[in-house]
Amino acid sequence: MYRINLLKQRLANQIAAGEVVERPASVIKELIENSMDAAATQVNIEVEQGGIKLIRVRDNGLGINKDDMKLALARHATSKISEVADLNAIDSLGFRGEALASISSVSRLCLQSKVNGSDEANGWQVQAEGQDMAIRLEPAAHSQGTTVEVRDLFFNTPARKKFLRKDRTEFARIDEVVKRLALSRFGIEVNLTHNQRSVHRMLSAESRSEKQRRVALLCGPAFVDNSVFVDLERAGLRLWGWVSLPTFSRSQADLQYFYVNGRIIRDKLVAHAIKQAYRDVLYHGRHPAYVLYLELDPAMVDVNVHPTKHEVRFREGRMVHDFLFSALHKALAKITPSDQLAASQTLPPDVGSLPPEPNNPNASLQQGSLKFRETTTPRQSGYSPGGTNGASSSQQLATNLAALSQLHDPDAEVPPLGYAIAQLHGIYLLAQNREGLVIVDMHAAHERITYERMKQAAVTEEIKMQPLLVPISIAVSQVEADCAEQQAQALMQLGIAVERVADESIVVRQVPSLLKDSNVEQLIRDVLSDLLEFGSSERIQARQDEILSTMACHGSVRANRQLALPEMNALLRDMEATERSGQCNHGRPTFVFRSLDELDKLFMRGQ
Ligand code: ADP
Ligand code: MG
Repeated sequence: MYRINLLKQRLANQIAAGEVVERPASVIKELIENSMDAAATQVNIEVEQGGIKLIRVRDNGLGINKDDMKLALARHATSKISEVADLNAIDSLGFRGEALASISSVSRLCLQSKVNGSDEANGWQVQAEGQDMAIRLEPAAHSQGTTVEVRDLFFNTPARKKFLRKDRTEFARIDEVVKRLALSRFGIEVNLTHNQRSVHRMLSAESRSEKQRRVALLCGPAFVDNSVFVDLERAGLRLWGWVSLPTFSRSQADLQYFYVNGRIIRDKLVAHAIKQAYRDVLYHGRHPAYVLYLELDPAMVDVNVHPTKHEVRFREGRMVHDFLFSALHKALAKITPSDQLAASQTLPPDVGSLPPEPNNPNASLQQGSLKFRETTTPRQSGYSPGGTNGASSSQQLATNLAALSQLHDPDAEVPPLGYAIAQLHGIYLLAQNREGLVIVDMHAAHERITYERMKQAAVTEEIKMQPLLVPISIAVSQVEADCAEQQAQALMQLGIAVERVADESIVVRQVPSLLKDSNVEQLIRDVLSDLLEFGSSERIQARQDEILSTMACHGSVRANRQLALPEMNALLRDMEATERSGQCNHGRPTFVFRSLDELDKLFMRGQ
């Protein structure tokens, strides 16, 4: 017969360590989080041999009382919560009280500390020994704050050690963890060394430009140059941070940092809301880049969902989703050529002259901070995809000369995209503004303008409904049928008439005429699943936009059509007034800008 025996303390802790201590990087994460919870303003991290040989994290935080030192290494011992109610509003990074116990069960760990304001000359240190993890407490020379030293990780758990990679790979993961944490608390000075070589020295950042410098250091200057700063607040929710311009997209979702009350998280709801916000402006299959901070009442979010705390559960998920989506959607829509140009003027000249990256043709152009400028509704356009507008060539010449002369008059107001000067190979429009040369892809620009106009028309005019000759009946789950029933009114506003006909069956009787040739059943199924998971769905809108986008593309100025100068100028003015006009319907840029400085450099003038 099997007998039951109580596990030795160390073994029990090693089992718990399986969940949170996967590799050196996870140790670093736990230790830095502890320093942050202890209100440290400086954290020094020393790593040797990818963290396998040594990890030492020292902070200047509150420190640990001599009498608590032993408990700090015990499992289920924490200073951060004391009763179940505390779990409902956690404002610290840790709360499970098992990190130090777990780490010390699989390594040689020494904890040294001295509390803030203690009048003792020395601090104290503890270590856990043997299978029972008996704690040895001794005096130690330590100034205010805490040091945790972790040597020989996994020396006693060979199965774990086998899964470790080369030092370099383990260090790369550590670097990523440090980066995430450094982005979460700008006020903390962070130093990182590997094998005695300094890797990062980050001073604490207070102002926005200092913060921006840290973001540039950690995420690359190109990200900052090609992103806008957002800061929005609504109903107790605040969202701030940097989001990439649609034209600065990435092939992988690797530059995406999202923090909830200072804790980095990966969350389906958040990812969905952001993806939706970029839907209409991103090149197909590309991913946006962002460093974003959501701040809300800790009671509104449950972090006790997963041992590594990378997942959270929002108590008002739909409200959060809606807030994120609308905030970012609005921010992206408001990026107009004048914002982009205004931003490009703040560039130091040498940054502007970098050659454009392949997936980022106007790297030097679109950057800086976002101004929430109200875009005006586009006027009736002065150009048409088909014919010319009939102005005689001498008339054109006169208007054009008058326009260009504005450029030399310092008091005259020159529009951001300037005045057209020529057309190049029937594809590009060349224009000059005060600062330099603007090159516009005519088709891309016209396409976006037409598309935005069609979308507006679709909203303002009633969506035309098309009763289906043969109503489509769809077998769904009871939950989905409930959802369809509850949302029938909302769906009706989008032009879709659904009706529940049985416990697990719905019937679609009407759809917007734009969608009559779509796969309606699939669309409704996807919409219901979105509604159940996120509380909202953009799919109907997305499908219609796709169709409008194709129509806009076919109706737009094709290559090789000669435009008269007034037509070109009208196109420029419309671009300035149209939302999202910095990129075409497919997410490609519609214009690039080269300043005179950059052009001078090309010709080595003044060197
Ligand atoms: P948790 O962070 O979940 O409370 P840990 O095992 O990580 O659990 O730490 C146990 C306790 O030790 C903490 O609650 C805290 O009181 C103390 N502690 C750990 N690291 C530090 C530190 N760097 N500064 C001050 N106190 C610390
Ligand atoms: Mg902790």
